[in-house]
Amino acid sequence: MTLETGIPVAERPAIDKKALLAKYMAERDKRLRPDGNEQYIEVKGRLAHYLDDPYTPLVEREPKTDHVTFAFVGGGFAGLVTGARLAEAGVTDVRIIEKGGDFGGAWYWNRYPGAQCDTASMIYMPLLEETGHMPSEKYAHAPEILEQCQRIGRQFGLYENALFHTQVTGLEWDGGQSRWVITTNRGDRFTASFIGLGTGPLHVPKLPGIPGLESFKGHSFHTSRWDYGYTGGDPKGAPMEKLADKRVAIIGTGATSVQAVPHLARACKRLYVVQRTPSSVDVRANAPIDPQWFKDVATPGWQQRWLENFTENQAGGSAEVDLVQDGWTDLSRRIRSKISELPADQRTPANMLAAFEDSDFEKMEEIRARVDAIVGDHETAQNLKAWYRQLCKRPCFHDAYLQAFNNPSTRLIDTDGQGVEQIIEKGFVVAGVEYEVDCIIYASGFEVGTGYRRRSGFEVVGRDGLTLSEAWAEGIRSKHGIHVHGFPNAFFVQPAQGANLISNVPHNLTDSGRTIAAVVSHALSRGAREVEVTQEAQDAWVELLLTSHGRMTGAPDCTPGYYNNEGQAPTPASRLNVGYPAGAAAYFRYIEDWRASGEFEGLAFR
Ligand code: NDP
Repeated sequence: MTLETGIPVAERPAIDKKALLAKYMAERDKRLRPDGNEQYIEVKGRLAHYLDDPYTPLVEREPKTDHVTFAFVGGGFAGLVTGARLAEAGVTDVRIIEKGGDFGGAWYWNRYPGAQCDTASMIYMPLLEETGHMPSEKYAHAPEILEQCQRIGRQFGLYENALFHTQVTGLEWDGGQSRWVITTNRGDRFTASFIGLGTGPLHVPKLPGIPGLESFKGHSFHTSRWDYGYTGGDPKGAPMEKLADKRVAIIGTGATSVQAVPHLARACKRLYVVQRTPSSVDVRANAPIDPQWFKDVATPGWQQRWLENFTENQAGGSAEVDLVQDGWTDLSRRIRSKISELPADQRTPANMLAAFEDSDFEKMEEIRARVDAIVGDHETAQNLKAWYRQLCKRPCFHDAYLQAFNNPSTRLIDTDGQGVEQIIEKGFVVAGVEYEVDCIIYASGFEVGTGYRRRSGFEVVGRDGLTLSEAWAEGIRSKHGIHVHGFPNAFFVQPAQGANLISNVPHNLTDSGRTIAAVVSHALSRGAREVEVTQEAQDAWVELLLTSHGRMTGAPDCTPGYYNNEGQAPTPASRLNVGYPAGAAAYFRYIEDWRASGEFEGLAFR
């Protein structure tokens, strides 16, 4: 048997685990810095232009002062699927408030060349069965995902009431009227019986804290605001012909950069890929979806079956078949097969963790061997190798990224874990060497470890003036990640404290939409004006969560990144960013029963 490295498994040298771990620790230590999240610059003030919407012109409108049944903050997957589930349940008076110029959320903003989903489209794209859409590829590209968002918006009548280019500035509970008062930056002040919050984990771009960032006199932008006016081309992959005479630097080599670099490499006169930590880049193997195959698969209930099968394969489940067969299910299959090699009486937690570690060592060796097999220049290949466990950082999959470094006009500038030293008028400096460029593209990611208020841009003021910042001062506390005591008629749509399935976030969201629609329908049908989780029920849920073994991603001894709070010691708050202890598949079964019972245990309706 050979894998993609071309080296027969039997002939591979044995792994010196001790030496490998020492290398991992040395590479990590090189990157640890005391400022953690503080190293990044908040995009505001003079830098606010980095947030401008390059895609849709602003349309003037009159402020809203009316009342709606349900207001949802965020027009990404969370808002769309909740709106759809509410519409299915007969609640059609739903207003989505969105800071972008259309629906889509992450997929509205991220139109950089090559953007595509990393989890198979069949389970990543929401409501495929409801909308009757067949994904064109195993891993669909961004324009198709954005179109799916628009399709959901149209089909479920969510456009009519939506407010685009609108940022919520305040959400306040009016206990006398049992309703929420919503204010926005467009002068709106309207009320809603219920609110939903789906502002997403990765929507506030951040810039690297590189000295001199503002002194650059050339052109610059963040990947989530791609300036096709400057580069030429379009999100569908038309060549960026305006870069033919340009020297361009892309700073950052995370999942975004991995997808954008092959396109830039083809287009630029000179491309510098500036790297602090290499991503692990495994095989992608994308392919078109065959309509005949899809017709056979897409029988009633297909997408829910696929979602459940993926989750069973992923997170502690025991599915015998793997319908999805992507990089994520491959990863869990490998771990399971290593564990199954252990004799039954030796399957202790410690031995199972060791088996997991062994499977990781093997995979990462394979990924590093892939770099050698693809990248022609020896030094570049060495610098592109990731020295950490695969789930320390977002695993990447791509079949053209490593190849891009064989393009003579593309050069990797490795900073040996230190990052860019300085930005200057004409370009940037690494290790004392100045590089002149016409354009700097920041692929520097999004705020993750900062507070909810800073990321959402508003405070949520619940019953008796309790703010969400106060309620969550020591970490998120909720039941199911959805209901928060002190915040009646409010629903949070995000993965933590529920399934916490990070390999397919949309599954968490579509399921939360179902829960919310069920709770709201129940409240409306029995004439309840308020629904709120009790303190006892919330405490009991949090206590249950704390029995969880924690997360597989971003262990404290990992190389720094947003998966492990930039390498800072875990705080009591980060301990609460967990999911159901029995795993995602068990959570989805549990919550299905919770909804179906009609009792909504833990919620008080009044
Ligand atoms: P990331 O946060 O993953 O990457 C930011 C990059 O910027 C890192 O390589 C980081 O290096 C680098 N960086 C930061 N500061 C400096 C500096 N001073 N000098 C040089 N480099 C620096 O952001 P992305 O936008 O790539 O991805 C964010 C997330 O979005 C992904 O993890 C994923 O969850 C999601 N995503 C999903 C995709 C999909 O599903 N297809 C595609 C793209 C993104 P270092 O690693 O050392 O910190």
